[in-house]
Amino acid sequence: MGPTGEDYRVVQLHPTRRCNLRCRHCYSRSGPDTREQLPIAIVETLLRDAGAERYNLASFSGGEPTMYPELAEALACAHANGLSTTVTSNGMLLSERLLERLRHHLDLLAISLDGVAASHNAMRASANAFEVMERRLDGVRRSGQRFGFIFTLTQHNLHELEWVAAFAAAQGAGLLQIHPLEETGRAADVMAGSSPDAVEASVAFLEVSRLQQRYAGTMQVHLDLLDRRAIAVQPACMLSGPAADHRDEPLAEIVSPLIVEPDGTVVPMHYGFDRRHAFGSLYDRPLRDLIPSWREHKMPGFLDVCRRTYEDLLAPADLPFVNWYPLVAERA
Ligand code: SF4
Repeated sequence: MGPTGEDYRVVQLHPTRRCNLRCRHCYSRSGPDTREQLPIAIVETLLRDAGAERYNLASFSGGEPTMYPELAEALACAHANGLSTTVTSNGMLLSERLLERLRHHLDLLAISLDGVAASHNAMRASANAFEVMERRLDGVRRSGQRFGFIFTLTQHNLHELEWVAAFAAAQGAGLLQIHPLEETGRAADVMAGSSPDAVEASVAFLEVSRLQQRYAGTMQVHLDLLDRRAIAVQPACMLSGPAADHRDEPLAEIVSPLIVEPDGTVVPMHYGFDRRHAFGSLYDRPLRDLIPSWREHKMPGFLDVCRRTYEDLLAPADLPFVNWYPLVAERA
C-alpha cells in the first residue's frame, strides 16, 4: 500500500503536451502551441514493461490526453498487459464518437473541475471552459463510462468545495478527488504561494470528512494528503528501510507513481523530478533496459531522499497533513 493509503501501483503517462487550453496551474506547461508527443510504439513498449514490473494502473494525463491520436490503442494495450486505466481530461473534447472509441478500455474518466464556473474559467484561462465541459456531461452519462471529477485545492478555493461536491453528485460522478495545487511548471510562474498551507490542508481534511459522510454510498470523496500520524506506523510504505530490502522487489513496489514525461524521460514520483534521479529516456532504450542501471546507480540515492523526507515528517509538528510527493521532489 502506498503512502496516501492507495493500493495502486501507478505508471503515470503524459503522452502529449498538446492541449486546447493553457491553464494557469498546468504543471506540464501544456498548450495549443506545443506538438511534443510520444510515438505509440514507445508507449506500447513502455506499457508491456510496466506490466512485467507489476504496475497495475496506467494513468494518462496532461497535456490533454484526448488529443493524443492513439489514446484508444494505448488504453487497449494497458488492458492487454494487466493494467487498469484512467484518463484525466479537461472534458471539453469528449465527443460521443471519442467516448465510444475509449469506453471498452477506459476504467475511469477523471474530469477536471476547479470550482464554480467563474473560478474554473479563471484557473483555465478560458472564457467558457466550464460551459463546454458541462455540455459534454450528458454524452458521458449516455455512454455508460464510469467517471469522476478532480478538484485542484488552492489556498483560496476551499469554500467552493461544497458546491463542487454537490455538482459532481448531481451529475452522477462516482468519485470526487481533491488534489492540492503543486507549484510546478506554469503554476510556479503564475500561482506562486497559492498551494494550500498546513492550516488550509487541515481545514480541508475536516471538510472532506464531512463530505465523505454526506456522500457515503453514492460518491467516493478522496483527499490526496498524507497524515503524519499514520506514517509513523507504516515505515515500509515510506521506503524508509535500507536499499538492500528492495533488491529483489519489482519496480512497482519501489517507485509509484512512475512518471513518463512527454519527451520520453522517465522519473520517479513527480512530474519534473530532479534529473539526477531519472531512469533515462525511452527514446534511447525501453524501460526494461533502463531499470538495471537505475537500480545499481540511482536507487540508493532515491531511497535516501525518501528516507530523509520521512524522517523530517516524524519531527513534532502542530498540524498533521502534508502532500508527500512534492515534498520528496523538493528534497531530491
Ligand atoms: S492543466 Fe490540463 S487542461 Fe490545463 S493546460 Fe495543462 S494539460 Fe491542458
